[in-house]
Amino acid sequence: MTFLPIFIQLQDRRCLVVGGGAVAARKVGRLLRAGARVTVVAPTLCRELSERRDLGEIEHKARAFARQDLDGAWLCIAATDDGTENGAVSALAQERHIPVNVVDDPERCTFIMPSVVDRSPVQIAISTGGASPVLARLLRARLETLVPAAYGRLAALMGAFRERVKQRFRDVGARRRFWEAVLHGPVAEMLFAGRDEAALAALAKALDEGSEAPLSVGEVYLVGAGPGDPDLLTFRALRLMQQADIVLYDRLVAPAILDLVRKDAERVHVGKARDEHRLAQKAINDLLVDLALEGKRVLRLKGGDPFIFGRGGEEIDTLSAHGIPFQVVPGITAASGCAAYAGIPLTHRDFAHSCVFVTGHLQDGSMDLNWDVLVQPRQTVAVYMGLSGLPVLCRELITRGMPPTTPAALIEQGTTARQRVFTATLEGLPQIVAEQDVHAPTLVIVGEVVRLREKLAWFAPGDSR
Ligand code: SAH
Repeated sequence: MTFLPIFIQLQDRRCLVVGGGAVAARKVGRLLRAGARVTVVAPTLCRELSERRDLGEIEHKARAFARQDLDGAWLCIAATDDGTENGAVSALAQERHIPVNVVDDPERCTFIMPSVVDRSPVQIAISTGGASPVLARLLRARLETLVPAAYGRLAALMGAFRERVKQRFRDVGARRRFWEAVLHGPVAEMLFAGRDEAALAALAKALDEGSEAPLSVGEVYLVGAGPGDPDLLTFRALRLMQQADIVLYDRLVAPAILDLVRKDAERVHVGKARDEHRLAQKAINDLLVDLALEGKRVLRLKGGDPFIFGRGGEEIDTLSAHGIPFQVVPGITAASGCAAYAGIPLTHRDFAHSCVFVTGHLQDGSMDLNWDVLVQPRQTVAVYMGLSGLPVLCRELITRGMPPTTPAALIEQGTTARQRVFTATLEGLPQIVAEQDVHAPTLVIVGEVVRLREKLAWFAPGDSR
């Protein structure tokens, strides 16, 4: 069966809902959001509908449906749990040409209610013609992830400028090119980043200058790609990955994540393995500036979170000095990702009230860390870049007063299909790791919370291999 998709104006119009249960309540909610005046006919109401009645949001007729309930109705929904009664409502409504929907009974419907992705004033309605509401909901969930929450604000902004743009560009083609440039360029991005005022000003400026390509200077997205599992990307990261012209990525970014970058975007590997700095940090900073000045949308993709041991701050410092627009997208940092996937809560009421993140990077064979802070009790220590320095790390912690029996874990390639977790005491961990063929990246967690893994481990990648 094919339906014609339409959007219907119900502001202040009377709609009839027959039935007072949870399903009816859902439909009533949607009608009210569209501004309808709703009458519910049902002997009894569920809690949500009683509350609405008490608040005066709906009119309630506490009895069974009667033919005259349809008088004056613009639309009718039958949502009782009695198929015969629903059928009778539908037949009477159809006799009077009143659009009617019978819940879960497409045969008796003259209209169906789609699943909706609501970014008012933008609304995306999805229908499977009644064949599979579950599939419609699944599609809706996918679209929810693809369409930024700020689309509503974008549409509202474009609506507000519509007349002025029409005046400015008489030619339909020029108008279309202008709006396309707005949608694909910095104006939209500013709005998505919550900089509504800047977006408005940029749009006004572009219009004043009469240019079809507002703000053709490029921009940089500094994006955290998380610790490895592509499912841990944020919606915003994914969206920017799909619109960038060029991507500069680190060694730590997993191939499965790079696969999600726009297919035709240029890919540049900028390092850095521990001893092989592909491009020095300064060269990366300069490259970002040059590419953005060429007008490119540059994705700077970093493992984990860009602001945690990622030198993200330095990179955008250079951008800001050159006045280049940028935005920063947080990612799940290795400590969070590895801890979660290893079943080790970083804090816990009984074991750790604080958590510190440090790097265990060796400089001339030693680690420059504030050891007194690290050996505090009831604290978890997460150590990044600590593989080659592991023996030094454990030895120093013990020397500075941490009990040698403190539980410790090393997580190799956390959150990925190759994750391995080694647990031991602080004293025993280096030996255990030395006996295995362990590869970076690894994260070390030291503290009583490591004990919880015994009960809380849930992720067993070996099972699915
Ligand atoms: N910005 C990143 C950290 C960069 S430093 C973040 O927020 O996660 C690089 C270090 O991160 C590695 O040496 C390692 O200690 C840690 N790391 C990153 N990904 C990891 C992973 N999947 N498993 C274990 N450790 C990881």
